Amino acid sequence: MFQNSLSFAQAQDASDPLKKYRADFYIPKHEGKEVIYLCGNSLGLQPKSVGPALEHELAQWRDEGVEGHFRGKYPWMYYHRFLLPQSAKLVGAKESEVVVMNTLTTNLHLLMISFYRPTSTRFKILMEGGAFPSDQYAMETQAKFHGFAPEDAIVELFPRKGEHTLRTADILERIQAEGDQLALIMLGGVNYYTGQFFDLKTITEAGHRVGAKVGFDLAHTVGNLPLHLHEWGPDFAVWCSYKYLNSGPGGPSGIFVHERHGKNPELQRFGGWWGHDESSRFEMRKGFIPMEGAAGWQLSNAQIFSCAAHKASLDIFDEVGMEALRAKSLRLTAYMEWLLRDMVGIQVITPTDPKARGCQLSIVTASPDRRLFDFLSANGVVADWREANKPGEQGGIIRVAPVPLYNSFEDVWHFARLVKEGLAVM
Ligand SMILES: *Cc1c(COP(=O)(O)O)cnc(C)c1O
Repeated sequence: MFQNSLSFAQAQDASDPLKKYRADFYIPKHEGKEVIYLCGNSLGLQPKSVGPALEHELAQWRDEGVEGHFRGKYPWMYYHRFLLPQSAKLVGAKESEVVVMNTLTTNLHLLMISFYRPTSTRFKILMEGGAFPSDQYAMETQAKFHGFAPEDAIVELFPRKGEHTLRTADILERIQAEGDQLALIMLGGVNYYTGQFFDLKTITEAGHRVGAKVGFDLAHTVGNLPLHLHEWGPDFAVWCSYKYLNSGPGGPSGIFVHERHGKNPELQRFGGWWGHDESSRFEMRKGFIPMEGAAGWQLSNAQIFSCAAHKASLDIFDEVGMEALRAKSLRLTAYMEWLLRDMVGIQVITPTDPKARGCQLSIVTASPDRRLFDFLSANGVVADWREANKPGEQGGIIRVAPVPLYNSFEDVWHFARLVKEGLAVM
């Protein structure tokens, strides 16, 4: 079904229904030529619509001063609302279940204040071994905050010996085994290192069966895979907007709080004026009354500039739709995998089952150093290098993410060609 040739790749691009979107992004250059940008899992490229969106807000501020809160196309006072319909659609939630605010790790802590409520008998957190460092630090310090030793409270999931990714059956067995000691399951939707996409629905159900709360860090999932958070039913989720969502460095984070919690004003949380009941927010009275839904977790008024960049990017996702993106993504990543495994013969640790991954592939370097990665970089490939994350393991991995919005089949073909050339000169 695939062919290893530039003309085949170009023919795929010619018939790609999403091909026009590449021109909506700025592609960085290397020695005068567009790079092969495979790092959208780390920082997505800049949509051309972001500049004008930021300029619009600068002009509002310049021309209206404080009145910008009430005037213009997007009055700042209500800015978070303008992001709701598209955010909700992106993650498969109701509008009342999402809000955009702060940054990812901050939101992880804020939601753990509500959803990690350990007792002397139910206090454990189940997470991936070798999770993204910020998540590890968040779990560690939350456990300590509640007076638990992290080594007692945190249960890490590791793949079986000789395997690189987790089996769903093993995750479920562990949930069952921890049973009524388990307070919270906190997993990445897609693991940042291996690219494995977990069965979020099945894990949520298993967690709820033993009485645990379930939260997901969707940093590598949102904008990468279609999600149905309302239906799958986790208690909460958090994500960032600067990876697949292309909203710029340090871009704002999104949160999901399932509606069964959003309607409960008694739920413990840290409050701020923007989460206070909108109708009486400016009466500045004593007594915090949370807004219904995820909005009730807001602390501060919206960061307009980063939200404006985010809005510009969400407009693109809204127009294309996650189903169309996923359809192209499946083919693009399958082509890359086929070229790498069958033509080049290099090891990929990401699951082979397309249902268990997004667009990212994680490649194991044959040699215990980063020479292949350096060769690729010198030849105009922007990818990402991670040192091995398991104790005693040598070398590292190269993570590559062909993203369907702006990457082409030609990008993928050139990348595989360069891997082959690189290996030949190692
Ligand atoms: C990217 C990423 C983060 C980054 O957190 P920030 O608070 O946005 O700096 C955290 N966790 C995971 C899993 C990530 O992939």
